[in-house]
Amino acid sequence: MYALTDPHYGRGAMDIPFNKPCIEGGEIENILTSIRSGRIAGDGRFNELCHEEMARSLGAKCVLLTTSASTALELAAMLCDIGPGDEVIMPSFTFVSCANAVCMRGGRPVFVDIDPLTLNLDEALIPEAITERTRAIMPVHYGGVSCEMDVINDIAGRHDLFVIEDAAHAFLSTYRGRYAGAVGDIGCFSFHETKSFTCGEGGALVLNREEHVSRGEILRDKGTNRPAFVRGEVQCYSWVDLGISALPSDILGAILYAQWLTRDKIIAKRKAVHARYAELLAPLEARGVIQLQLVPHYCTTSYYQFCLLTAEAETRPRLLEHLRRHGVHAVSHFVPLHLSPYACKAGLNRFLAVTESVADRIVRLPFYNSISPPEQDHVARVVRDFYHAA
Ligand SMILES: *Cc1c(COP(=O)(O)O)cnc(C)c1O
Repeated sequence: MYALTDPHYGRGAMDIPFNKPCIEGGEIENILTSIRSGRIAGDGRFNELCHEEMARSLGAKCVLLTTSASTALELAAMLCDIGPGDEVIMPSFTFVSCANAVCMRGGRPVFVDIDPLTLNLDEALIPEAITERTRAIMPVHYGGVSCEMDVINDIAGRHDLFVIEDAAHAFLSTYRGRYAGAVGDIGCFSFHETKSFTCGEGGALVLNREEHVSRGEILRDKGTNRPAFVRGEVQCYSWVDLGISALPSDILGAILYAQWLTRDKIIAKRKAVHARYAELLAPLEARGVIQLQLVPHYCTTSYYQFCLLTAEAETRPRLLEHLRRHGVHAVSHFVPLHLSPYACKAGLNRFLAVTESVADRIVRLPFYNSISPPEQDHVARVVRDFYHAA
């Protein structure tokens, strides 16, 4: 579409997509194994392997695959008994599923501003947002960088609140040596096509409290005690609670399990992509014309993405257009939830200065396991040219 014939950028056409899902190991073989096993519904062999190995490695009480992070967030809201009028503190700079999970139960998201450097929920603003109706805090580990979890857990402990981590970007990210998603009460991962690890559409619910484990598996399986029946603990299963259907097919578990086994390779590739962009763009950062996301020294990231912030909001559309004209598909990110049509209708609108500024300035560069060094060099060269840098 954007054939690149400009001699300035070298030979041939460069058309670099924003994202590409990548096959890294035994995905295809596992799919065939799953289909041939005759058990392709939820919780076949591959799903069980994911559950057991992920829980052990992450240090969680229980990990249950779900059809998406969105359904994991819904299950989290149900487990925390979010009900009409209950409030959940969350950033506005996040995906719509955080707010949906709360609103679907009649609850109310309370949007709090983010930190201008980490782009994460500003923990210093949480205490003043707490009311008698607050039931939970929902930190979102933006771009795979963990929120300040010790402080958030401490605030939650003092006010008797649940902590639901939206770790959709943060599978295998760490915070002070612990895995994101396993630091709060409940964690939610996404394995959507656009995330670092993927099975197309998928997610996981991480349960860190013993009392959530048996209820979690019931809510996820249509509110039935079928999981106990499958284990032979009861003679028949029946409707024992409210629930949804959130079990992914074992074919999806088969894809994910292959990615899980190659996780070190995937993280290493993404780390290298991230490091190359950071190095190529360091001169622009030093000049102050762009800003990169701060990763606190006690956090390691999943390398979900590479983003930069333009100094001025007016620059962003021009930079995106310049990139597009040169075959580079860069994108913006979340439209702040508090400014959305639904939030305005629901009376959730407010003013969040940092969120609004960041949302208007963010640019995410093409990022996937298989992007090549020459492709990355091209992307960086187009950005540098935009700023008339050598
Ligand atoms: C992608 C994303 C989700 C939703 O993930 P799905 O698996 O597509 O439901 C939730 N939260 C954040 C922050 C996300 O980026």
